[in-house]
Amino acid sequence: MKSDSIFFPGYTAGEDAYHEIEAVCAPFGTKAVVIGGKTAMEKTKDYLLEATKESSVKITDFIWYKGEAAFEYAEELQQMPAVKEADMVFCVGGGKAIDCAKLVADHLKKPYFTFPTIASTCACISALGIYYHTNHVFRDFFRVERPPMHVFISTKVIAEAPEVYLWAGIGDGMSKETEVKFSARDKEEELTLSEQAGVALSSCCTEPLLKYGIQAMDDCKLNRPSKAIEEVALNIFINTGMVSNMVDSHKYNTNLAHALFNSMTMLHQIEERHLHGEVVSYGTLVLLTLDKQYDQLERFYKFYKGMKLPTKLADLEVSVEELDPVLEAAVKKYDLDYIPYEITPAMIKAAILELEEFNQKAMA
Ligand SMILES: [Zn+2]
Repeated sequence: MKSDSIFFPGYTAGEDAYHEIEAVCAPFGTKAVVIGGKTAMEKTKDYLLEATKESSVKITDFIWYKGEAAFEYAEELQQMPAVKEADMVFCVGGGKAIDCAKLVADHLKKPYFTFPTIASTCACISALGIYYHTNHVFRDFFRVERPPMHVFISTKVIAEAPEVYLWAGIGDGMSKETEVKFSARDKEEELTLSEQAGVALSSCCTEPLLKYGIQAMDDCKLNRPSKAIEEVALNIFINTGMVSNMVDSHKYNTNLAHALFNSMTMLHQIEERHLHGEVVSYGTLVLLTLDKQYDQLERFYKFYKGMKLPTKLADLEVSVEELDPVLEAAVKKYDLDYIPYEITPAMIKAAILELEEFNQKAMA
């Protein structure tokens, strides 16, 4: 029987997280090349150079990832001398830059470390990447052999990033526990040990957001690193990301909230003006309504109002008349392959309408 290997990344979080580079990275060599986003590198360059001034690990170059998480760009990057000669890769930026850079490291079999600069996705801890064509059209999911060796979360960098990313990251994070537990319901017998742990860990994904979300947004607006930002960033990057690493990403990682996002992108207003995490957060309310988890719905609703996350169709500029093709498409999405009971377009529509009524009652 083939042996399975599971790898877990470590992490450091705090205002001066980058100062741990020497302690964490020195065993892997002395030359690190940064591959990252343009803005991300601008914002972190001084911090990174300062943190490695006294370190045996030196940054040999800062290289732009070319603007898309594309297989073609990864191929080009791995031909560059500074990349070839590096002992390790520092992946710096948001989801796309990190996904592109981790692919480069994977191809060259070099250890890689991630430095997330915005708290909107868990790309920094995940072996799974989302890849696009160079014209920015979605291409494929791809899982590299290993997750990063370590994640460096500077709360200073996260606090200085535009708060809209944190807002969307919180919105996306609100789906994790609800979707994972719904997908895995009544499947206890089938879950591997890692998946059982992933489902259990998803229990820790909601409460920190409810507790610290609003404070973190206030602190981010003032560019002020804080405990709230740290708690929320850890939740988005580490808790949520580890759940994604531990459960089968096709079976249990997403459900109705992501199916709705993936189908709503057919509406131009969603595609043009609404963020992934924003739409997913709304979809989570629809799932809670459909599954009749009314206590949780009340708590989420209250929190969303404080966060200004969407709670009704109008918040996403969507009308009831536009729903039918969206819901027909939603039930065909892979996110709904693993469900505890059949979900039809009519059931989703009924839940959406019930949620509209819930909004009206709550306003009254
Ligand atoms: Zn998501």
